[in-house]
Amino acid sequence: MRWKKTEYWGWGRALRARGEVARPERASALTTLSAESPAPAIGNLRSYGDAALNDGGRAIDMTRMDRVIGFDPETGIVEVESGVNIGDLGISFAARGWIPPVMPGTGFATIGGCIANDVHGKNHHVVGSFGQHVEEITLLQNGRRKTVSPQRNADLFRATVGGLGQTGLIASAKIRMMPCKGDMMVLTERRIDGWDEFIAALDSARSEYTVGWIDATARGAALGRGILEEGEITSGISPSGGRAREVPFNAPNWALSAPVVRAFNAAYFRRVPAGGRTTVKPITAPFFPLDKIHNWNRLYGKRGFHQFQCVVPIDQSDQLRRMLERIANSGLASPLAVLKRMGNGRAGYMSFPMEGYTLAVDFPNRAAAVLLIAELEQMTADAGGRIYFAKDALAGPDNMREMYPEHDKWLRAVQKADPDGKLATDLVRRLKLRETS
Ligand SMILES: Cc1cc2nc3c(=O)[nH]c(=O)nc-3n(C[C@H](O)[C@H](O)[C@H](O)COP(=O)(O)OP(=O)(O)OC[C@H]3O[C@@H](n4cnc5c(N)ncnc54)[C@H](O)[C@@H]3O)c2cc1C
Repeated sequence: MRWKKTEYWGWGRALRARGEVARPERASALTTLSAESPAPAIGNLRSYGDAALNDGGRAIDMTRMDRVIGFDPETGIVEVESGVNIGDLGISFAARGWIPPVMPGTGFATIGGCIANDVHGKNHHVVGSFGQHVEEITLLQNGRRKTVSPQRNADLFRATVGGLGQTGLIASAKIRMMPCKGDMMVLTERRIDGWDEFIAALDSARSEYTVGWIDATARGAALGRGILEEGEITSGISPSGGRAREVPFNAPNWALSAPVVRAFNAAYFRRVPAGGRTTVKPITAPFFPLDKIHNWNRLYGKRGFHQFQCVVPIDQSDQLRRMLERIANSGLASPLAVLKRMGNGRAGYMSFPMEGYTLAVDFPNRAAAVLLIAELEQMTADAGGRIYFAKDALAGPDNMREMYPEHDKWLRAVQKADPDGKLATDLVRRLKLRETS
């Protein structure tokens, strides 16, 4: 197998790695690689920080391993190689009446990435996390195949789902798809005027898919204003969608300056009429709203950006409001900010979800934003919440054991699976999740 020296980066483009990367296309080549040169896997690099980076070492790019191996229309179970994109699976199966039960906010995440971060979707409060719908995983550990499932090698299954790729290469998986009426969505949007109203609206929302866009620049009485989106899948097949657009260059620094973002947010808020509106759209629009603009991460210029995402327990919504206040007063937030209620569904020892509220906000990569994110991380820890590894690029190790109380179980399984630390990534080293040399 050819190893190519290359530079690659997380989606935020603030953290980068240099090293040799192999891109196997066949199962036999992958097995040989795993036996002869074990290295961490990379999917589509949609994690924002360094979850998939191995600076100075090797990495195995899984994106050519993208075959659908089989589908059973009786049970809805699909078996796929781990490099298949979740969006492709959604689009090709929804028209036939099946959909992946969980889809993150980008269709470009691979199945391997969805498992390794145990991703959640806009319906987490109804169906739980991605790993809860995984029937079986085929892992490769030093060239040996191992089947894990909630019943078979259950401990290793729980260490693999949400396990940041540390238990082996995920070669393929069987996913239990969910029946659906078609590939359209009835989408209801309504304005929310402030924080308390937003929390109450999320608590009382009954739709299958629910998410809030929040104006992280609004202060005072308008703090926490935003738009609540509620969706239900409906029958019908979408006409083929419009062409994706591309951001062709790194944006200049002023593009996301405080006045520009404030003006953008005010206009975005008014986009939905005061009385709300209901539309019918192809599912890709609400599921993956940003995927239509390829490389939108270039909008933040050469220095890149960070996303802060935390979840705090239900009784800590006041602490989350204080965090939003800090963000709004800082004038550093970008237009991309999301508030969502989560259920308690999680499938792995290191899975992110907990019952509570999750807030995600993007910040341009600047010194002041880095300081603010450190403060937000501590406020999250004080509230008994946790930050999301898929988004993080900045945290230190201090709060991790408390945020992830099942870390010791994960660590035991990981040390057994990969005693020499060959699968360790930059994130694992930064957060001292494992002892590596
Ligand atoms: C616009 C956008 C919206 C998003 N919205 C959401 C959201 O709503 N909910 C959510 O939960 N996440 C969300 N994410 C995060 C994203 O879903 C996760 O980061 C996901 O893991 C990315 O998948 P990937 O294939 O790009 O994996 P990568 O980022 O390349 O890798 C992620 C991790 O998975 C491991 N990995 C990847 N493939 C394998 C494999 N085959 N075997 C073993 N380990 C593997 C890597 O080592 C790494 O630890 C979003 C990201 C973006 C860019």
